[in-house]
Amino acid sequence: MKKISLLGITGSIGSSTVDVISANPDLFQLVAFSFYSNIEKGKDYIRQFSPKMVSVKSEAVAVELAQEFPQTTFVSGVSGLCEIAALPELDIVLTAVMGSIGLRPTLAAIEAGHDIALANKETLVTAGHIVMAKAKEKGIKILPVDSEHAAIFQCLQGEKMSQVDHLLITASGGSFRDKTREALKQVTVEDALNHPNWSMGAKITIDSATMMNKGFEVIEAHWLFDLDYDKIKVVLHRESIVHSMVAFIDGSVKAQLGPSDMREPIQYALTYPDRAYLKEQQPFDLTKIGALHFEPLDFQRFPMIRLAYEAGRIGGSLPAVMNAANEVAVAAFLAKKITFLQIETAVEKAMAQHQVVPHPSLEDILEIDQSTRTLVESWISQK
Ligand code: NDP
Ligand code: MG
Repeated sequence: MKKISLLGITGSIGSSTVDVISANPDLFQLVAFSFYSNIEKGKDYIRQFSPKMVSVKSEAVAVELAQEFPQTTFVSGVSGLCEIAALPELDIVLTAVMGSIGLRPTLAAIEAGHDIALANKETLVTAGHIVMAKAKEKGIKILPVDSEHAAIFQCLQGEKMSQVDHLLITASGGSFRDKTREALKQVTVEDALNHPNWSMGAKITIDSATMMNKGFEVIEAHWLFDLDYDKIKVVLHRESIVHSMVAFIDGSVKAQLGPSDMREPIQYALTYPDRAYLKEQQPFDLTKIGALHFEPLDFQRFPMIRLAYEAGRIGGSLPAVMNAANEVAVAAFLAKKITFLQIETAVEKAMAQHQVVPHPSLEDILEIDQSTRTLVESWISQK
């Protein structure tokens, strides 16, 4: 029985994780979790799982819920997330909060010696060097939940990293893959939220439309698999059937295929190295799918990927700036304060103005994350 803490139970990954946990009560026990604005949904989960500890948005909410659920301990804020990530009895912590807020709790979990099932990619984008060094020092596993990285991880089982030639990360292209740059000037929030293949949280759906998400995934792959950026390639694959591939030095390429169902990589991260039956699987019949398509990626059409490679290669504090600027810009786009293309402009401008710190400490990263947010917010409020 694996004891799990789930950061971000009320999100899209959170709800798929709940499905996996509830379908396997003999394998998993949900000991702790967090929610933020979705208090009613969070309360339903407290009734369902009777957790030992729950982290919420504020002290006031914690006090109120403690009266309603006296069996559960309530904590709040980032320190609360760190507490539920570091409970001594845990086996694994699934990080599914949105954004770089996940960084400190992930480090707290690693410090406590817990394995991580990592959905929160912003953590590795922002501070991959710190997270991976800490994981190595503590001898814990970081198991990818992101479908591309889960695919690569599966392709690498039984292989030697020294015999990998390169990774091929597949990209669906997001909601606007067939639109020209000119047409992108007119797109709305509603258009952007309409992803062709995956149902996900709002922020990552926008990141998929700008392709920042794919850029983040390149950086995430660099840290998870310890490979140079020259060995990480992106290929456009509309069907989202091949979740990613690994090419080896002998020319052989391994791919992992499956339906667009996040429960599969979530469950694999939680059961690894075993597999378990997945209930109510989506139909997956390759003869009905018929054909799979792969196209080269146009870096002019998708400049955010180019920016992400640049941020990754230069490294230091630059990826943290890219991420923070993107978080603020995406929130502003979702609030209809800026246009779709202004997300790119904000990220590019923040990166161009930044004086890179080559080996940033955790404190440097947190400070740069905050100052970038303040800067981009001020640009947006001046509009
Ligand atoms: P959602 O927006 O659906 O959920 C985000 C979760 O984080 C919610 O539980 C939300 O709480 C919580 N949250 C938001 N802001 C804060 C905050 N400031 N402090 C604490 N908790 C907060 O996101 P997704 O589930 O789509 O994505 C989660 C992470 O997983 C992201 O990093 C994303 O990139 C990654 N990911 C997601 C995939 C997907 O298929 N959705 C695929 C691969 C990676 P509440 O709702 O209560 O406000
Ligand atoms: Mg992904």
